[in-house]
Amino acid sequence: RAKENGRNTYQFYTPDMNARSCELLLLESSLRRGIEQQELVLHYQPQIDLFTGHVRGMEALVRWNHPQRGMIPPGDFIPLAEETGLIVPMGEWVLREACRQNRRWQTLGFSPVRITVNISARQFLKGDLVQMVADVLEETALDPGFLELEITESMVMDDVETAIFIMAQLAALGVHLAIDDFGTGYSSLAHLKRFPLTTLKIDRAFVKDLTVNGEDEAIVRAIVALAHSLDLQVIAEGIETEEQYLFLKERGCEQGQGFLFSKPLPADKIRTFLRPLMVY
Ligand code: C2E
Ligand code: MG
Ligand code: MG
Ligand code: MG
Repeated sequence: RAKENGRNTYQFYTPDMNARSCELLLLESSLRRGIEQQELVLHYQPQIDLFTGHVRGMEALVRWNHPQRGMIPPGDFIPLAEETGLIVPMGEWVLREACRQNRRWQTLGFSPVRITVNISARQFLKGDLVQMVADVLEETALDPGFLELEITESMVMDDVETAIFIMAQLAALGVHLAIDDFGTGYSSLAHLKRFPLTTLKIDRAFVKDLTVNGEDEAIVRAIVALAHSLDLQVIAEGIETEEQYLFLKERGCEQGQGFLFSKPLPADKIRTFLRPLMVY
């Protein structure tokens, strides 16, 4: 009945709907142009080994550098890109640029790290994702072991068999797989162990009040224990304070990322986090 009400409400507000679809259309053509004009940029956030302090990876996060509106965060255009299918060319650009950047860092002589790329639901379920990833790896000459793809719980739990099929092919390429925002969706533990995963990422929501909220602490403990029992790496996102960092470390979470270490920054700025290979 809620759905019916919702539909009636929409019909009642048809003029607003038109205004909204008009705005969406404008935004869509502007985004299409933006992709062509190379207005997308990647920022990178280091992923830190909480025990050694070494950088283990960099997460690539897309931004839209709009000529009039300035830097637009992904939350403001990824949903639209998903809806319109623009996520497919955009996602391919992100993957290629991230792999190219990681390869460039290696060529410059930095100690190699893993580059982490977010994959959207629509991209994941598109038939040629595996081929696209294989092509980009070949083209950029990046060792697949230095690429990790982040997918979310709902993407793999909705249709488990299809997800396993896709993930197995990606894993066969030598690419690592992580579940992003873990704990926010619903995961079947029975299914989780069938996925060829490398990493679980604890969602920022549980890290936020970790040091004051007993429930969040229990959830974090459970995820760390689960990850370790499945032989997976675990990484906490959204670490902003030293208290959160120490708390996570004491509970065995071995990796983290967050503003405490660095905000996501352009490639030339984030380079200071990489170590020269020859210096010990
Ligand atoms: P995510 O993958 O979970 O990325 C983490 C988000 O948390 C990023 O926001 C990052 O800037 C932010 N963050 C990192 N550390 C902290 C912290 O200490 N405190 C707080 N408050 N926030 C922190 P961002 O860059 O706005 O990205 C938002 C989401 O957009 C991402 O969530 C991801 O789902 C999506 N996204 C970003 N880039 C891409 C992309 O290239 N492709 C796809 N499909 N999705 C992307
Ligand atoms: Mg992510
Ligand atoms: Mg995340
Ligand atoms: Mg998140």
